[in-house]
Amino acid sequence: MKGYTPPPRMVVSNEPMPITRNITITEGISVKDLAEKLDIRVKDVISRLLGRGVFATVNQTLDAELASEMARFFGAETNVISFEEQASKDIDAAAGSGEDSAIEVTPRPPVVTIMGHVDHGKTTLLDSIRLTSVAEGEAGGITQHIGAYKVRITDKESPAFGREIVFLDTPGHEAFTRMRSRGAKATDIVVLVVAADDGVMPQTVEAIDHAHAAEVPIIVAVNKVDKPDAMPDRVKKQLADRGLVPEEWGGKTVFVDVSAKKKTNLNLLMEMICLVADLAELKATPERAATGVVLEAKLDRGRGPVATVLVQNGTLVAGDNFVVGNVFGKVRAMFDDRGGAMQSAPPSTPVEILGLEGLPQAGDQFVVVADRDKARGISEYREQKAREAALAKSSRVSLEGLAEQIKTAGTKELNIILKGDVQGSVEVLSDLLSRLSNEKVRLRLLRSGVGAITETDVLLASASNAIIIGFNVRPERKAQELAEQEEVDIRLHSIIYELQDEIKRAMTGLLEPTIKETYQGRAEVLETFRIPKVGTIAGCRVTDGVIKNNSEVRLLRDNVVVFKGKVGSLRRFKDDAKEVTNGMECGISIANYGDIKARDVIEAFATERIAAEAMV
Ligand code: GDP
Repeated sequence: MKGYTPPPRMVVSNEPMPITRNITITEGISVKDLAEKLDIRVKDVISRLLGRGVFATVNQTLDAELASEMARFFGAETNVISFEEQASKDIDAAAGSGEDSAIEVTPRPPVVTIMGHVDHGKTTLLDSIRLTSVAEGEAGGITQHIGAYKVRITDKESPAFGREIVFLDTPGHEAFTRMRSRGAKATDIVVLVVAADDGVMPQTVEAIDHAHAAEVPIIVAVNKVDKPDAMPDRVKKQLADRGLVPEEWGGKTVFVDVSAKKKTNLNLLMEMICLVADLAELKATPERAATGVVLEAKLDRGRGPVATVLVQNGTLVAGDNFVVGNVFGKVRAMFDDRGGAMQSAPPSTPVEILGLEGLPQAGDQFVVVADRDKARGISEYREQKAREAALAKSSRVSLEGLAEQIKTAGTKELNIILKGDVQGSVEVLSDLLSRLSNEKVRLRLLRSGVGAITETDVLLASASNAIIIGFNVRPERKAQELAEQEEVDIRLHSIIYELQDEIKRAMTGLLEPTIKETYQGRAEVLETFRIPKVGTIAGCRVTDGVIKNNSEVRLLRDNVVVFKGKVGSLRRFKDDAKEVTNGMECGISIANYGDIKARDVIEAFATERIAAEAMV
């Protein structure tokens, strides 16, 4: 084209830079932020990504792996931290650190979970405490159940007068441990309720174990002391045997005799909670942006997604943008446990918030973020991750989705349809099967259910190349016929570990066989002959090992492999030979290859296929 000068092209070197520094990045970092951290131009990152086949925009989030790879390319090792950790760091940095910190660190109210055996009075105790605190004339006195409530000690005589305590409203250790399994530590103190007329029971012991596991201090409320058959000392003795020794017996555990029903000693219990809280030195920084944990979340018909969040540090303010789990939002409105609207919530405050873009889960961490785009970016990134995780674990996958994955993923998949006799065994097996997956073979449960194997099951299996597992169930007659016709594999089992074994073996068969190569020998080409109808014959001398008539060979020219194939013919003088050993001369032709030259080297080897061990 006349007069056309191509624009200068920026050349991005394909050579990685030497590692010279260390940067800290957050999960789901945007291209822009990464470039900033690396102190390079955004467009260099984008063009490098392009080189990797990733089309990214400035604000696109990258997963930690890709971001780290990019950073390494530009000469930096990475330390990846979660978004919450980063948010905390930012806030601490803004607040300064240590003693000369400009921002005040103040004590915060303790957060308490009530645990104990069923019927020992947990709910009654929660209700009584709540009622005593509202009875003192707070507006309306109607309490909402939002997952937690805050009380204030109103007894003017009490040394703890005016102090506040937060009670989590779901008693028992299941909820407590479920939260913990999601990485949330919401509870500072456990109040263990033990009925004085019943003593230590199995769930009492469990509760102790759970509190210990979480390293949360325990206060014992010996309840129902109003009952004539109450034996509080027996409770103390039983608990002392389990390591909870009362202070009056020289131990460290605080015991309070109460009656939840008669509201006896509730103030004393609350004072003791404050005392234990003081020992734990619970502190927070009210002036920073809020972080917390979701206690409850529900979809409200009129109001959309609603979550109760326990603000653990900082102050949550109406209008704040936030990320919670993989959901983001902006605090449109906030309510306290009495249903009253709030503008701001200091540390250790349970609040109900509106303005979520989705439904988070109990135990999700809550973080206030400066701007909405960032909040959205992080939540989108997390949602995508969650989707991927769910897909990998999901028990129902559409056939299109499946085909797509087989096409794109490098993994092999074993599709399974599982039928069992009872729901319990189906669940156990589903779980077991999903855990058998490894990075080479993914087990995918297309369908699981209770009942006999039906024609529909077989059709699905045949359509999606799945095997059917029947646990203590049989195929229906028609299904059996169809399976034979469609060559669908049905495996019937009644013992879990046998089934597990068989799947493991099937996985081994599925894996790409590893090819093991065994070196046999070498021959040097002395001269070559062209023989009509046969092709090129190389006159060789075997210089090492042995050449066999069924060997696989590499033809090396100046140590470069120029061809790889098989021996076509092997002759000693005029006769076919099975093998020729070191020092002997022979004629070799290579199947389908004629361009052999003098001084080439023929290297012979054998391969065998070994099924890879399934790494289960
Ligand atoms: P939870 O299963 O631990 O939540 O126990 P509840 O709070 O439901 O109480 C179980 C039963 O014990 C109920 O009938 C309560 O009325 C009764 N109860 C709870 N606390 C006391 C108490 O201090 N004294 C007496 N006499 N009964 C109580």
